[in-house]
Amino acid sequence: MTTRNERLFAAARDVMPGGVSSPVRAFKTVGGTPLTLRRGKGARVWDADNREFVDFVCGWGAQIIGHADPRVVRRIQRRVARGTVFGAPCIEETQLARRIRAALPGVDRVRFVSTGTEATMSALRLARAVTGRDYIVKCSGNYHGHSDALLSSAGSGALTLGVPDSPGVPPLWAAMTFTTPTNDLASMAKLFEQHSERIAALIVEPVVGNAGLIPPDDGWLQGLSAITKQHGALLVLDEVMTGFRVAWGGAQRRFGVQPDLTCLAKVIGGGMPVGAYCGRAELMDQVAPAGPVYQAGTLSGAPVGMAAGIVTLDVLEDPCTYEQLERTGAAMQAILEAAAKAAGVPIRVQRVGSMQTVFFADPAKPLRCLEEIQTTQTRLFPVFHRALLENGVSWPPSNYEAAFFTLAHGPAELEVLDRAARAAFEAVARA
Ligand SMILES: *Cc1c(COP(=O)(O)O)cnc(C)c1O
Repeated sequence: MTTRNERLFAAARDVMPGGVSSPVRAFKTVGGTPLTLRRGKGARVWDADNREFVDFVCGWGAQIIGHADPRVVRRIQRRVARGTVFGAPCIEETQLARRIRAALPGVDRVRFVSTGTEATMSALRLARAVTGRDYIVKCSGNYHGHSDALLSSAGSGALTLGVPDSPGVPPLWAAMTFTTPTNDLASMAKLFEQHSERIAALIVEPVVGNAGLIPPDDGWLQGLSAITKQHGALLVLDEVMTGFRVAWGGAQRRFGVQPDLTCLAKVIGGGMPVGAYCGRAELMDQVAPAGPVYQAGTLSGAPVGMAAGIVTLDVLEDPCTYEQLERTGAAMQAILEAAAKAAGVPIRVQRVGSMQTVFFADPAKPLRCLEEIQTTQTRLFPVFHRALLENGVSWPPSNYEAAFFTLAHGPAELEVLDRAARAAFEAVARA
């Protein structure tokens, strides 16, 4: 007997590549049929067969208050009723930009876009323009969206020239991106010494969330700031995931580092498509029409997304919110570790605030870069994922992703997680 979920996904596959609008949703690495979700409320979501799940995907981090929070819904509804897109300035743009500026030291100006991909792509164009240099440096396993120049992670080895991760990206294009491991300042310094005059910018996820979670070593981000300064390159922090998630203002506030440019998306849109890049006036005023660096967007700064962002940041500005997220995160980590221990499965949980990844690896040994994460037992992950799902928990369908939660996740949700995690680690122990 097929479920409604299965029938819907078959229909989706018939009309969309792989049945999805973004690849990881298709459950390719874990197998099985993705949930077609019909509804969300607070910490919970319901699929097409009306099965209820506690959600730890949370719009891949975009949801931080909870699904369909009444404050956000009301604000969006009020704004929708007055028109959705004009292609002219709206009051909400200035209001959201002011909130972002107030939270991020060193930001004078904000340019809104619609996605994280656009934010990083545009920030790098600006960096290339103001430095007059062409090359970019990134860290392996850091994801900065799907634009051509950034779709290169390169293989192992300390200092590799970029090779494209996808057909369709010209090798010459990817070759302008150098890649080096996360948390390896010596390799980074060496790369900059070799190519000093050519490097426009270093772009980095301050807490890596797209290789599984990797926290920054003490001094890593400050070291990157010093190296870029020394060589006249810009430090671009990709805070698309961490911005307003790991702290008010993001990882730069939490870890005390001052970037030249910051990229934001996800949380700042309150569940609507909003991205931004921002920085000092002297840099940002090079962006058109204030300056010559062209970048534009029909739906950029459209009022509904701005309104959702404003109400979201207003909720988050109360310092209690991040304390609550920290407490929930710690409780969740303890639950996962206890459940794994009871089943005799060694796991290492890496967590920063409300982002975390469960690795099947030595609990005591920090995983500091993609190359180390690739040595973990990712083959066990599909078993873990399936058992969680069968026990009412929706978890990101890849071991190279972070799991998220919201302010709506409380004791009842953690109880569901506890039961599901015990079953899941027992399944892993049998595998
Ligand atoms: C999600 C993400 C992006 C891409 O954002 P989109 O809105 O999906 O284009 C870029 N960088 C990081 C760190 C992300 O987590």
